[in-house]
Amino acid sequence: MTASLHICRYCDSPITDPDDAVAVAHELGMSGPGWTVWAHSEHADLVVPDADAVRILARVLITRALASGD
Ligand SMILES: [Zn+2]
Repeated sequence: MTASLHICRYCDSPITDPDDAVAVAHELGMSGPGWTVWAHSEHADLVVPDADAVRILARVLITRALASGD
């Protein structure tokens, strides 16, 4: 699996620093598992649509990322 570049939902710019990428939402796809919406850490608060679900998702993703040892 290759590292993919995330695009910030708020400013539409690529998030070049992986440590600066924050998962702010998960959107369901028409056919498939859907995708995660990312934002710069400084923009995450400006995007957040569904605070509770997003916070839970972000925690899961962060925990998973930390567990992967990168
Ligand atoms: Zn941004």
